[in-house]
Amino acid sequence: MRNTNEMEIRFDSRSENESFARVAVAAFMTQLNPTVEEVADVKTAVSEAVTNAIIHGYDQAVKKVHIRCRIRENIFCVEVSDTGRGIENIEEAMRPMFTTRPEQDRSGMGFAFMEAFMDQVEVESEPGKGTTVKMQKAIGKGREIWTTQSL
Ligand code: ATP
Ligand code: MG
Repeated sequence: MRNTNEMEIRFDSRSENESFARVAVAAFMTQLNPTVEEVADVKTAVSEAVTNAIIHGYDQAVKKVHIRCRIRENIFCVEVSDTGRGIENIEEAMRPMFTTRPEQDRSGMGFAFMEAFMDQVEVESEPGKGTTVKMQKAIGKGREIWTTQSL
């Protein structure tokens, strides 16, 4: 399709790769000419999803995390997938402050941050099969008006 651009990465579910993942996604996103704040929002959301895949999905076992990014016009889409344990009750898992690991100082705010920083967050998950978090954000909202007026 015209006006789309995609990339995919697959990496080991090691915590060392969390910063790699968010920087790789941020680098791909720069072609949309995002603001510093927009980049920071996407990086935070990606970090939360990748951390969840590593900690909850795989319970520290070293398997693969898969990230897919797609740009369509000014919409940035990013999907983070694992083939780990999956989520029994997605609605409950996404509730702010819900965590299955309170003993590990988890605050249960990962999904709440993803929803706050992205325009759309969808979770697909099947127990025993894995989880995919699909997120979208429009980049440069309002900037077009500003550009037109300043011409
Ligand atoms: P925090 O993100 O604040 O450190 P948390 O990870 O527990 O805490 P969320 O990121 O909101 O909070 O996730 C809520 C719950 O959803 C988790 O405690 C876990 O039970 C479940 N969960 C999230 N992502 C996955 C995943 N990829 N695989 C399996 N379970 C998951
Ligand atoms: Mg989390």
